[in-house]
Amino acid sequence: MSEKRTEISDLGEFGLIDHLNEKVKLQNDSTLKGIGDDAAVIDAADHVKVVTTDLLLEGVHFDLAYAPLPHVGFKAVAVNVSDIAAMNAIPKQITVSIALSNRFSVEAVDALYSGIRAACEHYGVDLVGGDTTASRSGLVISITAIGEAQKGQITYRNGAKENDILCVTGDLGGALVGLQILEREKQVFLANPDMRPDLEKYTIVTGRQLKPDARMDIIHELRELGVVPTSMMDISDGLASEIFHICKSSNVGATIYEDKLPIDKQTFDTAVELNLDPITCVLNGGEDYELLFTIDQKDFEKLEKHPDIHFIGHISKAEEGKFLVTKSGTAVAIKAQGWKHF
Ligand code: ADP
Ligand code: MG
Repeated sequence: MSEKRTEISDLGEFGLIDHLNEKVKLQNDSTLKGIGDDAAVIDAADHVKVVTTDLLLEGVHFDLAYAPLPHVGFKAVAVNVSDIAAMNAIPKQITVSIALSNRFSVEAVDALYSGIRAACEHYGVDLVGGDTTASRSGLVISITAIGEAQKGQITYRNGAKENDILCVTGDLGGALVGLQILEREKQVFLANPDMRPDLEKYTIVTGRQLKPDARMDIIHELRELGVVPTSMMDISDGLASEIFHICKSSNVGATIYEDKLPIDKQTFDTAVELNLDPITCVLNGGEDYELLFTIDQKDFEKLEKHPDIHFIGHISKAEEGKFLVTKSGTAVAIKAQGWKHF
């Protein structure tokens, strides 16, 4: 009898997570949200705790040929803090687990932890534990972050309503373009080790790739302005993919406008230099760690003048679909290409 074998690539990352989630039964009333959002939400009497975890592998998520260890440490914390921010919560604690091969010295681990400590200070979180083990395949880092919020402040992916305004913070596409530059310069260096890479011109985009900053500043500002988004998530896999997540979870459609999409000048110029379409970088580039959220129209006035929040479109009925209106006024269906891991 032959056993059926299904390739993971047939399901994809999100399909695999859905597949696993189908058989998971929650048993505790305190589990307010399980699998399926940026973080789990746990009842803690007068408030809620949020928990998220991320795994980073050398050679898959970072390349030590161009990523300095302190930056890897900082980024490993920032990507978790970004998922806490995406729930509209405040990060409080992290645990850090590492697996090390014998390539790594105590000095190397110190360098990694200098970045982790810098991020802890930057985001006001305490490093409260972890695990250390040997690895046969380079460096592996797994971080879990715990945050807090009041019950009414938590923002899920499923709260977007028709006519809500779609907002993004900062600018998009920089991390992908930065990665392409770092990869290009690595190849140049490998071909001729005497060549010193000239990265001076690209510091904004390479910085976006090597040392992303989670948008906790925006979370604090939303509080000060008294705005609770109707839905929110962070942009780790690309804007198009995240719009699909919000629309699927909230059972809505969306229209976004090309001329409203935020792109930095250096990202634009570098994309053109690399023969990449800047708008494709904005829609499908991963790892920007900006926030995508929806607000009720009544809150627009409060955010209207914010210099780093961009209003890119609106939410529609599910049956109206997901569209990008180009600069020439044509509506094209959005494809959730995203970052394919498998
Ligand atoms: P993010 O990009 O925000 O980190 P992911 O796409 O990694 O989110 O995960 C989406 C949801 O699936 C989250 O709730 C996450 O905790 C859950 N998840 C991911 N991988 C697994 C797994 N192997 N087992 C259980 N839950 C998982
Ligand atoms: Mg996320």
